[in-house]
Order: sequence, then structure tokens, then C-alpha cells
Amino acid sequence: MLIWDAHAGFELNSFHDLETLSVWKSAGVNFLSVNVGYDVNTWFQTVKALSLAREWVGKTEGYQLVRNVIEIDEANEAGDMAIAFDVEGMNALDGSLEMVSFYYDLGVRQMLFAYNINNLAGGGCHDEDTGLTKFGRAVVAKMNAVGMLVDCSHCGYRTTIEAMECSEQPVIFSHSNAKALRDHRRNILDEQALLCAEIGGVIGVNGISLFVGENDTSTRSITDHIEHYLDLVGHDHVGIGLDYFHPVEELPNFNETVSQNSHYWPLSDYPTAELHCAEPRQIQEIAETLLQRNHREAVVKGVLGGNFRRVASEVWK
Ligand SMILES: [Zn+2]
Repeated sequence: MLIWDAHAGFELNSFHDLETLSVWKSAGVNFLSVNVGYDVNTWFQTVKALSLAREWVGKTEGYQLVRNVIEIDEANEAGDMAIAFDVEGMNALDGSLEMVSFYYDLGVRQMLFAYNINNLAGGGCHDEDTGLTKFGRAVVAKMNAVGMLVDCSHCGYRTTIEAMECSEQPVIFSHSNAKALRDHRRNILDEQALLCAEIGGVIGVNGISLFVGENDTSTRSITDHIEHYLDLVGHDHVGIGLDYFHPVEELPNFNETVSQNSHYWPLSDYPTAELHCAEPRQIQEIAETLLQRNHREAVVKGVLGGNFRRVASEVWK
């Protein structure tokens, strides 16, 4: 089965950070979208992270940068894990529409509007629900034109609805769990998932302890979120965006970053001691759990990678 992980959550500041990719590779992941930046960083930090990732993936055996789904297949046939990039938040555009094509040319294949708090493009999920801005609408049109996936994770409710209404192509939630199962502001309402499916998109379930349940990264509970979406939106619109990062105890700066940026991570929503993530090897366990719960093999194949692959083949150019 093709395994597609729609979002890696580790922060990328050096070649050393990229060695984490071996965790996905040894878990049998075929395609991974590697995050190169988010609104907490400056746009030029994102460009620098992109340069590091391109260089490392280009020269490291076992990995290939890909531009389209055909190249994913080719990489997999050669035994390599396929890599493209994503950006979490449009501060990375520095107010310039042309940056969309610039990032696309460098391998960025999905981008979301606002990382938790509002920015020049739209609203974040932990801020006033102000909706998509004029610039945000122009970015959607530009993303549609260049073939970049519009991602609604981390965004405010109105921004997600308005983005789905104005995009001419399917839109994804790369890593957003169900509020119906875990009432956290980072999770999404059923109606957001329903609209995403209606326009042909895919919702990826993540493995972050706070968003899965009560400090919960169990395969069983992650599978519960997947099953909730399968029941709600049907089997063509559910995938996985695990958002894996190193265990917090191995990240000396992580708690500092979170506590110094409480506007991005309001303390009431993010007691940092609770932040953990399920591991990529659990994706195989998720498949087994779905099969044990009597889901057909074709459905499991869709969740593991087929659905995100379909949307990418429709949108990427
Ligand atoms: Zn994220």
C-alpha cells in the first residue's frame, strides 16, 4: 500500500534536523510533505530552510525530491522515499503573490493561510474569526493557477469556508482532527469536513496528543478520528497528515519557543508538557486496525495514501 504522510511537523534549522526523515523511511512511508516554514518564522528563514532541505534531499541516498505523482511512483520504484514541501502560513509570502510561483518552483506543493493567528491572508484558529482577506483570495487564485494545494489546517472557521468557496480546485485539511471527538480549537467541525469532501478534497488525521484526545497518541484513538471522517464524508476523502516531530524532551528549544510565543499557542490550549506525537511506524498499525474493524482493503488503501495521491494528481501541474 502507498503510504502518504501529508505533513511532517519537525522544525528545520540544520542538516542534522533532516536526519529525522529516516524515521519515516524506516516506517515504509512512500511520500512525505516536509514543512519548511510557519508564520512564527520570518519569510527568509523559510527560504533558508527550503535551501537546506533541497540540498540534503538532493544529495542523500534513499530520498528524492518530486514535482508530481509520476515522480513519486518513479522514486518509489527506485526504493526511495519521495519528498515535496509545505508552508504553514502566508507570512512566508511577505505580501507578494509572485512568491507563490517562486515556492512552487522550489518544490512547495501545499500551503495554508494562517498559522493559528491572523495574518495578511486570513484568520487563524486561535484568533478573531475574520475570514479571508482580499490578498488571501488573490493567493487562492494564484495557487489554483500554479497548481499548489490550498490547505485549511490551522485556519479560522470563516477563512476555511471562504477558501473552499472560492477555490476552483479541491482543498485539503492536511492535518486536522475532528472536534466532534476532541473539543480543541485546533480541531475542525463536521461541517468544515463535509464541505471539503463535497468539493473533492481530503482531510488528513494527525497524531498530536492534544488533538487526538486526553494526552493520547494511541493507534486506536487516531483510528477513531479516521473512522469518524469515514462515516461522515465517505472513504474517498480521508487521509493521514501525522505531524510527527522529535519527542519534546529531545528538543531543548521547543518549550521555550512555545512559551515565548503564547499568542501562537495560547497557554490555555497548549499545556506544553502534553505535546507528543504518534510515530510514523503507527501508520502500518492504523491500517491493521482499520482492517480489523472490517473496513475493506480498498478503503484502507485510500486512507493510507490513495486519496491524497488522487487530489495531488488533480491539482499539481
Ligand atoms: Zn501544523
